[in-house]
Amino acid sequence: MNLIAESGRSALKIAILYDEQFLLHDTGPNHPENSERMLSAINFLKNDSKLKPNLIWPSFGYASIDVINLVHSKEYIHLVKQESEKLTKLTAKLSTGDTVISKHSYQVARKSVGAVTEGVDQIMKGKASSGFVFSRPPGHHATKDRGMGFCIFNNVAIAAKYLQMKYGFNRILIVDFDVHHGNGTQDIFYSDNTVFYFSIHQHPFYPGTGRPDEKGSGEGYGYTLNIDLPKGAGDKEFIHGLKSQLIPAMEKFKPEFILVSAGFDAHENDLLGQLEYSNNGYKKATEILSTIAQKYASNRILFVLEGGYEPTNLREASVSILNTIISKKIKAD
Ligand SMILES: [Zn+2]
Repeated sequence: MNLIAESGRSALKIAILYDEQFLLHDTGPNHPENSERMLSAINFLKNDSKLKPNLIWPSFGYASIDVINLVHSKEYIHLVKQESEKLTKLTAKLSTGDTVISKHSYQVARKSVGAVTEGVDQIMKGKASSGFVFSRPPGHHATKDRGMGFCIFNNVAIAAKYLQMKYGFNRILIVDFDVHHGNGTQDIFYSDNTVFYFSIHQHPFYPGTGRPDEKGSGEGYGYTLNIDLPKGAGDKEFIHGLKSQLIPAMEKFKPEFILVSAGFDAHENDLLGQLEYSNNGYKKATEILSTIAQKYASNRILFVLEGGYEPTNLREASVSILNTIISKKIKAD
C-alpha cells in the first residue's frame, strides 16, 4: 500500500452536496428549472457501482444571513424572505426579475448556499478531495441586490467570498461554462483582482452581457475573461477557448481554489441553449480544469450546478465530470 497516497488528498472521496429540500422550490407547471431536472443524476450517483465507492454525501444546514450578506444586501435578502413567505398562491414572480418563487423558495435558496459553503468546508478540512453541488435554485445571474434568470442567491459568488473570509484565499478562479453568461457573478467581482471570473457562453443570448471587451474595471481590470460563441458551436470551440485563453491566464493568476458554475444547458439538445457540447466535451474540459487545480490549487475544485434543462444530459454530463475526476485521481496515486 502506498501510504503517502493513502494519507494524501488524492486518496479522498468526492463530496456530493444534495438535499431533498431542493425539490421544494416550486416553479410551477412547464418551467424548465423544475425539481425533476436533477433527479435522474442523483438516482444514478446513488446506485452506480463504479461511482458509489468514490462518493460521500455530507449533510448541511441553511446558510446564515451573515453568510448570504457576504454578497447580497440585507434589503434584498429581506425582500426574498418577505415575497416568498407571504405567498398565498402557489407561485409568483420575484419582483426584481424573471424568477418564479413559491412559499419555500427563501428557505430552499438559503439551503442552496448552505450546500456550497459545506462543499468548501469539506474540501478545506480535508474530508473530500473535491466536490459537486447539486442544488437549486441556481445562482450565477443574481447580482448583489437583484434575483433574475431563475436565480435567487449567487451560490458560487458567496462560496468565493466565504473562502476569502474563512480561509484567507487571495486568488480564486470561477469558471462558468453554463450556456448563459453569469452576469451576476461578473458584476459582483468586476473591480476585484482576488477573484478571476472566466465565462464561455452563447452570444447573442440571454442576458446579453459577457462580450470579450468586458474585462473588469479598476484593480479588477484583466480579471474578467469572456468568450462568446455563436449558436451551433460545440466541443471544438469549447476546448479551444479553455486551452487558448484560460490556461495562459491561469499561468499568471495561479488560483488557490477553483469554483465551477457548472450549467449543462450548453449540452447538445438542451431545451434552452443552442450550443452543441457533448459528454466528451465535458470530460475534456474537466481534464483541463483538474490539471489547473492540480498545478496551483492542491486539487481543490468545487463544481456547482447552474442551468441544464434536459435531465438525461444533466445526468450524463455530470457523471462524465465525476468519472474524469476519479480517473485523474487514480493516475495521480
Ligand atoms: Zn443557463
